[in-house]
Amino acid sequence: MTRQRRIILEELRKVFTHPTADELYKAARKRLPRISLSTVYRNLELLCREGAIRKLEMAGSQKRFDGNLKDHYHIRCLRCGRVADIELERRPDLEGSIRGVYGFEVLGHRLELTGVCGPCMAGRRSVSTAC
Ligand code: ZN
Ligand code: MN
Repeated sequence: MTRQRRIILEELRKVFTHPTADELYKAARKRLPRISLSTVYRNLELLCREGAIRKLEMAGSQKRFDGNLKDHYHIRCLRCGRVADIELERRPDLEGSIRGVYGFEVLGHRLELTGVCGPCMAGRRSVSTAC
């Protein structure tokens, strides 16, 4: 693993905010002043392919990344796009209960809850979605 990739991975694992590539770029640049955004993108893709991190696929928002590999669910703020982890027992039975529908073989599931986060509820406009 290159030093750049290791630092990107460290920066991602430090936070629980599910940052975008842009946000990770800003964090990584503090330690690697000459790193480029495209290098950050490329390394994030590599880390995903290696299974070291996860890419969150969420409806209609920028790609976000997660350093937490444990099975868990997410909630997304409809106003600012902030994504947080949810303390909820995973439900593998969901997959069993719909087996056979439409001829699909179920291989997994994702659950994304949506809502409005605390700062947005309070009317505080967040400048960054990373806080
Ligand atoms: Zn919000
Ligand atoms: Mn997460």
